[in-house]
Amino acid sequence: MKCRHCATELLDPADVFIDLGTAPPSNAFLRAEELDRAEARFPLKVFTCSECLLVQVDEVQRCDALFSADYVYFSSYSASWLAHARRYVEQVTQRLSLGPQSLVMEVASNDGYLLQYVAQRGIPCVGVEPTDGTATVARAKGIETMGEFFGRDFARRFAAQRRRADLVLGNNVLAHVPDINDFVAGLREVLAPAGSITLEFPHLLQLVRQCQFDTVYHEHFSYLSLRTVQRILAAHDLVVWDVEELPTHGGSLRVWAQHLAHPRPTSGRVAVMRAKEDAAGMGHPAFYRGLQGRAERIKDHLLAFLIGQKRAGKTVVGYGAAAKGNTLLNFAGVRADLLPYVVDASPHKQGRYLPGSRIPVLSEERLRADKPDFVLVLPWNLRDEISAQLEYAGAWGARLVTAVPALRISAAGASPKSDEAGAGMPYRSFAALGFV
Ligand SMILES: [Zn+2]
Repeated sequence: MKCRHCATELLDPADVFIDLGTAPPSNAFLRAEELDRAEARFPLKVFTCSECLLVQVDEVQRCDALFSADYVYFSSYSASWLAHARRYVEQVTQRLSLGPQSLVMEVASNDGYLLQYVAQRGIPCVGVEPTDGTATVARAKGIETMGEFFGRDFARRFAAQRRRADLVLGNNVLAHVPDINDFVAGLREVLAPAGSITLEFPHLLQLVRQCQFDTVYHEHFSYLSLRTVQRILAAHDLVVWDVEELPTHGGSLRVWAQHLAHPRPTSGRVAVMRAKEDAAGMGHPAFYRGLQGRAERIKDHLLAFLIGQKRAGKTVVGYGAAAKGNTLLNFAGVRADLLPYVVDASPHKQGRYLPGSRIPVLSEERLRADKPDFVLVLPWNLRDEISAQLEYAGAWGARLVTAVPALRISAAGASPKSDEAGAGMPYRSFAALGFV
């Protein structure tokens, strides 16, 4: 296998970043009638390129297999993500002086969760979204949506037939494209001479620091730092002129880029972020080792907790059928005997089964009826939002649990400050149960 960016040979085991065994695609939710069939599983091994330091999954899946018509992620089901999109649109329209004369293009525009705010301001916009289900919802909102994969060919055609865009944005898409060079070449092709690109992606620095190994899944092809993004953009004559740190997805970066030939002044924040990455050691291969053992400890603690509660006669159910939850549950080998169901707000997931673990996905009504002792929150990045939403469960003494970066237990509806003695309490509980 060769690096997706620079084509350097990736060596096994010398360049392995983490090996999570095998798993089905994280969004391949199963219907009841599919439970008697086998599931396709693929290796989930991540490498670091020794030359350009791009962290990447090794298994190249065909896009149409991963992004099927059954793809069930609708951005608009997360209230905090909608608020994030609305704030971004406020900021970017002012900063780039966007108006009725401008064109905004969003790549992977999903169900129009973001472009709806652009359209509300009377700014022309177009989404690019290859997934039928979400694109249809966006069109119903009046958002022009092109049902294609974004890349150099699409961008050339669009620029020739229509016009170039003043803002091209991609939230959590750069990390999800298999051919990152073709994608970035497309950004350059479709960008107006004085236009700007913004890209948001989870920051690899936080993945390693917080041991967010569950953000690894097949559809997430690259794990990005400012350093690697600058290098990949530069290979296509694009340059980063600003960078922001965002709290989304456990710690993300938003980079602002432009054509090399039309430089806005570079914000001082770019050098500050590069210095922060360098200080953490991201320029050296040693930074990219050691995650495996830390991930295995998280797995051990989660299993000890679930087995301990089962033995004690307590009930634990899951909340949030997110991709990262599937990675965690499959890596840990958790099945319905330890976690009988997961509730999720999306009606598109309810009634289905998680890929691999085959744990049923139900509506929150079931949780209200069953009154479980513990709720394992799988999308830990939404913990505060979910805690507030589950305040009613505090009435029967339910407690919230997250597994990453370390097992954490708190009362439902409680603020983050009221954790029950952090990691100390659960470790003592394990010891009492004979697991640690
Ligand atoms: Zn490389």
